[in-house]
Amino acid sequence: MTIAIHWFRRDLRLSDNPALLRAAQSGTVLPVFILEDNQPLGGASRAWLHRSLDALNTALNGTLRVFTGDAATILPQLVNETGATTVTWTRRYDATGIETDTALKAALSDQGISVISENGALLWEPWEVKKADGTPYRVFTPFYRKGCLSAAPPRAPLPAPDLTLSDAPNPTQIDDLNLIPTPRWDIDTLAHWSPGEAGAQARLDTFLQDGIINYKDGRNIPADPKVSRLSPHLAFGEISPNTVWHSARQLPASQDRDHFLSELGWREFSYSLLFHNGDIATRNLNAKFDAFPWAEATALLTAWQKGQTGIPIVDAGMRELWQTGYMHNRVRMIVASFLVKNLLIHWHHGLHWFDDTLFDADPANNPASWQWVAGSGADAAPYFRIFNPVTQSQKFDPDGRYIRTYVPEIAALPDRSLHAPWEAPALVLKAANITLGTTYPMPLVDLKDSRARALAAFDETKTA
Ligand code: FAD
Repeated sequence: MTIAIHWFRRDLRLSDNPALLRAAQSGTVLPVFILEDNQPLGGASRAWLHRSLDALNTALNGTLRVFTGDAATILPQLVNETGATTVTWTRRYDATGIETDTALKAALSDQGISVISENGALLWEPWEVKKADGTPYRVFTPFYRKGCLSAAPPRAPLPAPDLTLSDAPNPTQIDDLNLIPTPRWDIDTLAHWSPGEAGAQARLDTFLQDGIINYKDGRNIPADPKVSRLSPHLAFGEISPNTVWHSARQLPASQDRDHFLSELGWREFSYSLLFHNGDIATRNLNAKFDAFPWAEATALLTAWQKGQTGIPIVDAGMRELWQTGYMHNRVRMIVASFLVKNLLIHWHHGLHWFDDTLFDADPANNPASWQWVAGSGADAAPYFRIFNPVTQSQKFDPDGRYIRTYVPEIAALPDRSLHAPWEAPALVLKAANITLGTTYPMPLVDLKDSRARALAAFDETKTA
């Protein structure tokens, strides 16, 4: 009997998992997960991971072996202990992951072990999507249109393999990974979700049945369920981008369908940026921003994190994040812009908060998106385009449904005053039982003044 270890990482699924298929073709499969010391996860991701591993273990008839520590030590030991002759994994694109995998591949190959890595995370490998001069794209539209869409189409999804699973003893249980938070906030928050492969597939099916109709415009309205909410499932690889891509492609051509596909293209772009810039989470891709005069992150950061900024759309977004582990994309852009431009707080602080609180916290999408909003990214929103959160709120939550869901203390305000309560006449505030500064905060900053301050700060980077 030959044994093939499949090392699960962010590919927590059986279907369309090319590396798992290779393991199944090589022998009896010993499925393994390692909670690696050098791949820290935020609190929300840990809670999600616990449930996702449970689901995977059930699908594997309870044979998933889990470990905590250093993969470079654990895997060679496991190979020796079990006599495995093959190790398979799905490729990853972050610098630490690549370093670990490269070293492990060399060490295991030296021991005569066959190491097989496959692409199960991206539609196109980042090193295949390059400009004519061989350099990586820095701008999304040509990356997607010229680089991706004119290349060979993404591989069609593969079926789940017929697995012969190892009956090696399973000494460590998923609970031993200590992923469950104390206190148990996850019970309520995860009630909005179904982590695991079956939940991911169900989410995709529901979205493709009706969510995708009017996606192109509807995706901007945070109160409407016009987005897929597939992001945590994609971040943990509970469904492959190929499955999502090909399922959507089967729908009749429409602007909505193509726009949805292009969002998967943004995911590819983020991964390309991560692959080509291993330090994207710590370094400004645009070096001019190294001279940016960021403000101290003090009580203002805490107010932002708690959804107590006094700007209703920002507070609604930050509270949605806290209560559901998710925030709508439009609102992510608004709250991020408010933090880095109106409060002048370094994007690192926003990135870390999102890493800790988002179920979909993703090593590529999160830093690439923060740098995009901050203006320091490769293909960033120009710095001088500063979102006015009130105008955004009036445009994308005109009837205030989103704000009223998450900021109930101002729900009684009429629509015209809801987006900027500090401008409401005293009588209107009184009728709604609101005392600004007591029942709801005054805005942390004046939007006009802080905008001017941000532009002045940006000017400093130009002369640096
Ligand atoms: P849909 O609109 O249904 O899109 C489908 C899929 O396409 C998403 O699941 C996602 O994988 C991908 N996608 C959509 N928009 C983007 C985008 N702008 N960039 C890259 N991929 C995209 N996304 C994450 O997955 N993880 C993060 O940690 C993350 N952090 C972000 C931080 C900031 C400051 C901003 C502005 C955006 C961030 N995003 C992140 C991108 C985007 O907000 C989410 O992917 C999206 O809101 C997820 O919801 P959905 O699955 O319903 O999206």
